[in-house]
Amino acid sequence: MAITNQNIIYLDNNASTAVDDRVIESMLPIFKSNFGNAGSDHAFGWEANEVVDIARERIGDLLNCKPSEFLFTSGATEAANIGILGFCKANKAKGKHLITVRTEHKAILEPVKALEKEGFTITYLNVDDCGMIDLQELDTAITDQTILVAIMLANNETGLIHPIDAIERIVHDKGSALFCDITQAVGKIKVDLDILNIDLAVFSAHKMHGPKGCGALYMNRKNKLKLNSIFYGGGQEKGLRPGTLNVPAIVGFGTAAYFAKAELKDNIDKMLALRKILEANLEEIEGIIIHAKNNKRLPNTVNFAVLNIDGGKLLRRLNKIAVSRGSACNANTVEPSHVLQAMGFSNDTALASFRVSLSKETTRSDIELAILNIKEAIYSLQKMTA
Ligand code: PLP
Repeated sequence: MAITNQNIIYLDNNASTAVDDRVIESMLPIFKSNFGNAGSDHAFGWEANEVVDIARERIGDLLNCKPSEFLFTSGATEAANIGILGFCKANKAKGKHLITVRTEHKAILEPVKALEKEGFTITYLNVDDCGMIDLQELDTAITDQTILVAIMLANNETGLIHPIDAIERIVHDKGSALFCDITQAVGKIKVDLDILNIDLAVFSAHKMHGPKGCGALYMNRKNKLKLNSIFYGGGQEKGLRPGTLNVPAIVGFGTAAYFAKAELKDNIDKMLALRKILEANLEEIEGIIIHAKNNKRLPNTVNFAVLNIDGGKLLRRLNKIAVSRGSACNANTVEPSHVLQAMGFSNDTALASFRVSLSKETTRSDIELAILNIKEAIYSLQKMTA
C-alpha cells in the first residue's frame, strides 16, 4: 500500500497530495543552512534568490511559460483573489461584466461574488449533466462590457476537462480576457501556457506532490495585462504579492514541477490504467453512474453516484478508503456539492456521489482493496433496502 494512515488507503489526491520524498529532500537545506531572506543584499539573500530563480525556471519549464510570467503566492486561492480582483479593479473603466461557470471552485466563485457586491454584473454559465458548458451560450453572453471570463481547465470534483482552446478563441475574438484555474490539471495532463494563450492562470504546489502554502499566479506577458494590487507591503512579486518569499516551499514547488514534467507520461499511463480497473468494477454494480464518464477527464479522477442509497450511511461503510463525498461541510452541516447540483443531480444523488482521486503513488493493490470496500459497502446497504 502506497500511502496509508491507520491502514486507510488515501484516494483523495484532488484535495491534496503526499509530498514527494525528493521534494522534501530539496527543501531541507533551505530550512537548515540556506535560510536567508531572498530580499537581503548579502550572501544569504543572494543564495536564497538564486534557488527561487531555479524554482521559477523549473515551473516555467513545466508549463512552457517564462519564469517572469508568474508570481508566487500562498496557494491557488490567494492567486485567484490577486488575479481576479486585481484585474477587475484595474480594468473596470472598460466594463463591469464578468462571466464564470456554476461549477467553478469556491476560490474563484467567492472573489467573483465579492465583485458583485461592488457593483459588477456576473453571468453564471449553466452546464449539462456532464458539467460541460455550451460554447454558444458563452459566445452570446459576452458583451462589450465583459472584461473577464473565468473558466477552469479541469474540474476538481469530476475531473472534466473544458475545451480551453475553443473557449480562448471565443473570449479573445470578442475582446475579453480569460482567467483559467489550472490547479487540478497541472501535473496530471500536459498544460502548455504558450499554446493555450490564457491571460491569467492559477495553480498550487500541494496538488502536485509539492508542499502546502505555495501557489502561483500566471500573467501572460504577450497580453499586457493591467492589475491593481490588493495587498500593500515590501513590493515583492511585482508588488502584487508583497511579503517575504516562502523560499523552502518555493524550492519544493520547483522540485515538484521538475519531476512532474520528467515523469508526466509515466504517471498518466499508470493512473489511467488503474482508473480503468476501478471504473470497470464500478460498472458491475447496479445503480452506479460515473459522472462525465464519456467526456475528456483527468486521468486520476472518478466521481460516481450510487442511486437510491443513503450517502451518509455509505460513507460510514467506506471505512477503508479516504475519498471525498459530493458535499461541502459548513459549520457542522453537510451540503450537497454545488458542482453536482449545477449538473442537475438531486441533493440525494449528490450526497451519494463519491470522488476517488488517484496519484502517481497509488498502487494496484490500493485500487483492488478500494474496490472490495466499495462493493461490500454498497451490496450490504442494497441488501438492507431490498
Ligand atoms: N482551484 C481548484 C480547482 C482546487 O481544486 C483548489 C483546491 O482545493 C483550489 C483552487 C484552491 O487551492 P489552494 O488550496 O492552493 O488555495
